[in-house]
Amino acid sequence: MPRSPSKSGAPESHDFTAKSPDSPSAKVIEAFELTATGPLGALSPRLFYEIVQQSPLAISITDDKAAILYVNPAFETLTGYGRDSVLGQNESILSHKQTPKGVYGELWSTIQDKRSWRGTLVNRRNSGEAYLAELSISPVLNGEGDIAYFLGIHRDVTELHALEKQVHHQKALIESVLDSAPVIVSLIDAERRVILDNQAYKKLLGDLHGREPAMLFLDALQQDGVDLKTACRECRGFGDMEVRLDIAGRAEPRWFSVSGTWVDELDSTAGSYFTAQASGRCCLLLVANEITALKRQMEQVRMQHLRASLAEQQRVQDMREALSGAIFQLQTPFNVIQAAASMLDRGTDLNKAREVLDQVLASGRQAMDTLRGALPAELQESETNVNLNTLLRDVLTLMTDEFLAQGVIIDWHPQTILSGVNGRPNQLRSMFMRLIENALLAVAESGKDHRSIRITTRSQEDGVEVLIQDNGPGIPEGLRLKVFEPFYTGWKQAYGRAGMGLSMVQETVNQHGGVVDVNPAFLDGCQIRVSFPVSTSKPIAPGASL
Ligand code: FAD
Repeated sequence: MPRSPSKSGAPESHDFTAKSPDSPSAKVIEAFELTATGPLGALSPRLFYEIVQQSPLAISITDDKAAILYVNPAFETLTGYGRDSVLGQNESILSHKQTPKGVYGELWSTIQDKRSWRGTLVNRRNSGEAYLAELSISPVLNGEGDIAYFLGIHRDVTELHALEKQVHHQKALIESVLDSAPVIVSLIDAERRVILDNQAYKKLLGDLHGREPAMLFLDALQQDGVDLKTACRECRGFGDMEVRLDIAGRAEPRWFSVSGTWVDELDSTAGSYFTAQASGRCCLLLVANEITALKRQMEQVRMQHLRASLAEQQRVQDMREALSGAIFQLQTPFNVIQAAASMLDRGTDLNKAREVLDQVLASGRQAMDTLRGALPAELQESETNVNLNTLLRDVLTLMTDEFLAQGVIIDWHPQTILSGVNGRPNQLRSMFMRLIENALLAVAESGKDHRSIRITTRSQEDGVEVLIQDNGPGIPEGLRLKVFEPFYTGWKQAYGRAGMGLSMVQETVNQHGGVVDVNPAFLDGCQIRVSFPVSTSKPIAPGASL
């Protein structure tokens, strides 16, 4: 609690100013006594007076209307006003008239509310020179709790402000240089937060619907075997790593060439004031170049090659399907002849007929052996680590003309970063092609105006799943297993198909250690689920003949 002055208004004891050559007024003495025991806590008025006199901060005490009663030597030095020339004047003599009126309004409403105010004002020295004053004003209350005085403390922060501005300008300059660079730049701290980026990065962020490109790059690099933790520990950068991002709703993937450099964060804590030292925290400067156009050109060449090899694959499979059909057809009469021969075996006087049947059987066997021999061998293809997004995109590109001709909307939902699976790329491509051709037939037979096929890829705990769904008539519950049997066909028209498609799909999936089925829970058409294990250790079963 502040001590009360005597009734006369004079302080009860003011020997603390006895040594002062300036002989302060009774009001100043009272102000010091109230302030020493008020806003600044319990100090002896003498000690407080000494502190104020020697303080490097400009300190003034005013009455409740801001008329100056006391200023310390630092105030005189900073403002250029001698003590005598400011006593009795309003603090507004320091105003440079550039501070907005609203600031003063806020200042006054705060201090009149008996609260301290802190802010920055544009002040003017006696010489006319402007300076920035960081000012705090505290109300000093009398024994009745009313405002008796104000204590003002300010310092010149012009240089500090200039430095801040300079840092701000330099940051803006760096940012505008980075922004004009035609590369994607981001700086990532140890907590995987993006702490600096440029316009190209922000644009990509928008294209990815808010998903941080830097995190996708890092995840993709890690998936490609880049050990980021060790690289960070050893401050080892990496250069020109190719990263592919599959973006939902976009027909083709985007490709980036990504480089990374580790930057040591400088320690800005007080401990490093005299000697600059590294903080031990690494930041990663990621620079990425989009190389989609280049990849597109390479892709066109690859697609031409792929078209040729898929056509060959298709030719062989068509031939195998036709011949398998013929063998299947032959099997039935052959079985009948076999049964007849067995019956004749049991007779006694039909030796001649038996002889003829034996001839038929022999020639039939020969015909079947010839047909089996005519079956072209499956194309040999070596197993490799494949990305199913890439394969499916190949298939979609190859089938684009068919989609357009049939007015089918393709809804492509690839998982942005997908684990690889062990497989034979061409075999898998033609398998997916068959499934999508089936989906096309289904939506065509449905006769619906809105025809759509949705293809989704997603990583599972230990595998990769592909969903191919169409809004066609769907497959009734009783046929969900039967459709995978050889020579079963449920299409309204034959379309020149022998009903071997899904059976061959199942064979391919089995050879890859995967599983295929019709999702019973999907009721708006048909959804085929194909899943493959991610493990690369398990070899793919050798190709079995039909
Ligand atoms: P004015 O017309 O005097 O005031 C502008 C606005 O301030 C008014 O519209 C009103 O909203 C408010 N105001 C002014 N006086 C009062 C009052 N007595 N009661 C209620 N509201 C009021 N100003 C500086 O520019 N630099 C300083 O370093 C500085 N230090 C100060 C230190 C202390 C301890 C105190 C109490 C005030 C200080 N001031 C300072 C504020 C100063 O007193 C003036 O209010 C300010 O400079 C504006 O003056 P002006 O002549 O431009 O406008």
